Amino acid sequence: QNSVVENKSKSGTKENITLIDSVIERKVDSVLALMQPNEKIGQLVQYSGSRDITGPSSSKKDQYKLEKLKKGEVGSMLNITSVASIRETQKIVMEHSRLKIPLIFAYDVIHGYKTIFPIPLGESASWDLEMIERSASIAAKEAAASGLNWTFAPVLDISRDARWGRVMEGAGEDTYLTTQIGVARINGYQGKDLSDVSTVAACAKHFAGYGFAEGGREYNTANIGEFELHNTILPPFEAAAKTGVATFMNAFNDIDGIPATGHKMLQRDLLKGKWNWKGFVVSDWGSIHEMMTHGYAEDKMHAAELAINAGSDMDMESYTYEAALKPLIAKKKVSIKTIDDAVRRVLRIKFQLGLFDDPYKYCNNQREQEAIYTPEHLSIAREVAKRSIVLLKNDNDLLPLSKNIKSIAVIGPLANDKNSPLGNWRAKGKYNSAVSLLEGVKQAVGKSTKIYYEKGVDLTIPTVEAGENQFSRPLKFNKDDRSGILEAVEVAKKADFVLLAIGEDAYQTGEGRSQTSIGFFGLQLELLKAIKKVNDNIIIILMNGRPMDLSEPSEIVPSILECWHLGSESGNAIADVVFGDYNPSGKLPISFPHNVGQEPIYYNHKNTGRPPVKNRVTSSGYRDAPSTALYPFGFGLSYTEFKYSNLNLDQAEIPIDGEINLSVKVTNIGGREGHEVVQLYIRDLVGSLIRPVKELRGFKKINLKAGESKVVNFKINAKMLQFYTANKKWEVEPGIFNVWVGGSSLAELKETFTVF
Ligand code: BGC
Repeated sequence: QNSVVENKSKSGTKENITLIDSVIERKVDSVLALMQPNEKIGQLVQYSGSRDITGPSSSKKDQYKLEKLKKGEVGSMLNITSVASIRETQKIVMEHSRLKIPLIFAYDVIHGYKTIFPIPLGESASWDLEMIERSASIAAKEAAASGLNWTFAPVLDISRDARWGRVMEGAGEDTYLTTQIGVARINGYQGKDLSDVSTVAACAKHFAGYGFAEGGREYNTANIGEFELHNTILPPFEAAAKTGVATFMNAFNDIDGIPATGHKMLQRDLLKGKWNWKGFVVSDWGSIHEMMTHGYAEDKMHAAELAINAGSDMDMESYTYEAALKPLIAKKKVSIKTIDDAVRRVLRIKFQLGLFDDPYKYCNNQREQEAIYTPEHLSIAREVAKRSIVLLKNDNDLLPLSKNIKSIAVIGPLANDKNSPLGNWRAKGKYNSAVSLLEGVKQAVGKSTKIYYEKGVDLTIPTVEAGENQFSRPLKFNKDDRSGILEAVEVAKKADFVLLAIGEDAYQTGEGRSQTSIGFFGLQLELLKAIKKVNDNIIIILMNGRPMDLSEPSEIVPSILECWHLGSESGNAIADVVFGDYNPSGKLPISFPHNVGQEPIYYNHKNTGRPPVKNRVTSSGYRDAPSTALYPFGFGLSYTEFKYSNLNLDQAEIPIDGEINLSVKVTNIGGREGHEVVQLYIRDLVGSLIRPVKELRGFKKINLKAGESKVVNFKINAKMLQFYTANKKWEVEPGIFNVWVGGSSLAELKETFTVF
């Protein structure tokens, strides 16, 4: 905490990975020249290998896959996750297939491998690009030590609707923040050199528009206009392509009637054409086949034809390419040139990973023993976790608590939960392995503090043995068991302070976890209200994967700490903040509404012709709720206070290619050292298309000691002002711009400049 953290990703100063290298290109061509059609098609096939396909209990499907592996008709496997089984599977190809083209092994390493970091939405609240890059690099190191070469991350979907379960996987509602964080994550996963055995290939997903699923309904249609697509959805993907991300994944959704998987404009024309990107595109799970269900493809043949011609290179688990590509080539519906291009892309990444030099390169037992779940990794997980916590409310400076308080009650269904903090995509994170809040508190306080614990209510009713398999099962919520509330009230009565851990189960968010409610399931609010009757000093420790409806809790309690699902070190990180060892610095990457009816809600909306005016019926907005968020984008309190002053632009007018130096003074006027995320917002007042009321265009995370001031500088240049205009081009349009600097999207310090 003592050092100044200038929020510049290390990647900003290093060369991006280049996916084109002439030596590799020659090698790719030489392999391609040897390949027969079935072997080429095989490179475009990816199977899941969750079972031990070589083992005695292998199913019929496994045996089928085994035969295909032997023939060299598989390019990649996903979901095989140990050195022993990866080696075993690679061996099948090496010992039996004609050309011995190594497999590439993939897995969803979304927020850590075995050392679990905060869920991506939570980690994004840190706005700390250096730490984010670091956590991705540790996840990569651990995954690679298990023999893996490829992660299906980062998620670059912009999400503005809390009902969508997968909001937890991305960086929230803002395009600029998602871009910065996405690039940091890619650089963390891929490092400087893909062939390094402590890195993995990354995957920019889901291309594109998945986060705009209508009504937040999973796998749903996305209605995105052409300009919105270019201005809001695509920039993080373009940045990923430019950063040299090895792969892209397309998406389940359609955009205005065209499934992303069969979207030629996106994949062929833009990504591989205009952006000139050289990696390969994998379909989402079964999404090629699903174009039939969409009603876009007549049959398997048609689906494969549409997908490959649109630029989907690899078929994940839909068995479509393997069945259809050969006849499609014969019928001249798909050209061999198209197939060759797709195969070349896959081979290129395999060469980049060094798999042709040594297919077992990532399979090292000692590394697997030593490089995973190390004390060093856990300590970084704790560091990242505490920086991800957002202080939403803190009346009368209730927090931080002294470590010598007389008594504290730790209450709630999530208070001693060692599983939910691991979040949904916990990869190999072991069931019940997180440090619970209760454990964190016990570690933190002095011996004289009396700690009480009561669960109060259950959030869910366990439906499977030990709850381990809930990834693919629906949850059952507690609707009527109030039997623990009385005991909880009893301990709340005795304690000076109550830490109430409520929110969401890990499996309430993630894939297939959309909800119409963003409230507190399982009688949690009843518990809160019962406790409130006997103790006012309640601090809500919120654990969740999506923005929740906090309107009622916010009225009842003095303090709320947004703690997401923070990963392996959850309880320790929360205790660091609760007891003041770390001054919270997180800022929301997504708006928290007053109620679910406001969704989708986001700060960078456009103005209507009749913007909301209180008590005016003929103005935009709702009559029964405010138009603004309860806790807006960029918001987060600190134990100290930061004052912004002296906003200065060195020029008030610039030409289109000019540059303005902006400076602002930030002073820590409170009594504690802390980090602050200084945020820069810009509005283009008049455009050829309506521009958002403000847009994040820069940020810096700084550290200030009590009483200290710093001058923070930003440059405003043409690149930051351009948008995809009515001319269907990225351009800066001359005119007047507003600029704000502050500690949230409500920043008030404002200046104006003109571009001529
Ligand atoms: C998800 C992807 C994931 C893939 C492989 C799909 O259902 O949408 O995000 O990478 O499965 O597990």
